[in-house]
Amino acid sequence: MSRSVLVTGGNRGIGHAIARVFAESGDKVAFTYRTGEPPADLLELGCLPVQCDITDTEQVELAYKQVEAEHGAVEVLIANAGVNRDQLLMRMSEEDFSAVVETNLTGTFRTVKRANRAMLRARKGRIILISSAVALRGEPGQVNYAASKAGLIGFARSLARELGSRNITVNVVAPGLTRTDMAAALSEDQQKALIGQVPLGRIGLPDEIAAAVRFLASEDAAYITGAVVPVDGGVAMGH
Ligand code: NDP
Repeated sequence: MSRSVLVTGGNRGIGHAIARVFAESGDKVAFTYRTGEPPADLLELGCLPVQCDITDTEQVELAYKQVEAEHGAVEVLIANAGVNRDQLLMRMSEEDFSAVVETNLTGTFRTVKRANRAMLRARKGRIILISSAVALRGEPGQVNYAASKAGLIGFARSLARELGSRNITVNVVAPGLTRTDMAAALSEDQQKALIGQVPLGRIGLPDEIAAAVRFLASEDAAYITGAVVPVDGGVAMGH
């Protein structure tokens, strides 16, 4: 099975692990990056780097054209790119709120909408959105991030209903605190406090998120749609 897979934000962190796991399984993987050089290990695996900022509709369109020319229409989309700008509501600017929603929610809308066309024509497809445990349980200082990530759940469930009859599944993976640059931006004390709430007592690893994503894209998950799969050491207890 060699499908055309696109991972947004695949140059580092969770997206990098996801791109890697699909490439190692023999899929044709394209991944987006914004700046800098695409990671050498993904290039060695034959992945296609595509420069794209998901806040820009034109860049999204160009990225898809590039992927379609090299790998064919996207059959598996992993909308992973995301940002946070944490601040207590009292101090949060409207710009901080909008920028996070613009990337995490509207950026995902753009990316998914563009994939949808070809999937409908092919009458098959897999769409996986990367949300967060914070969408389910909340976190002080993250009203913008939590709102955007909770928005993805409503988005996915509505789309799962729209696309089910066309053999397209839409699912959400909700990671807990995971060892990436995003987590590294937290202070040691903040990380300790968050890990203290995790029943499994440790931070998650990008590969552990990637394994759940790979499953949802596999044949074994053909009858799963509209699901929110927590990969969070138990922190949100499935809610
Ligand atoms: P990182 O900060 O390590 O990586 C974020 C990725 O998203 C980078 O590849 C980045 O690209 C990309 N990105 C950000 N904004 C844009 C944009 N406008 N257009 C295109 N790409 C963009 O984060 P993680 O790997 O930790 O996070 C990946 C996803 O998982 C995110 O959606 C995050 O919210 C979610 N998540 C992370 C958790 C964690 O604890 N780490 C927990 C729960 C969810 P670039 O390198 O160019 O900046």
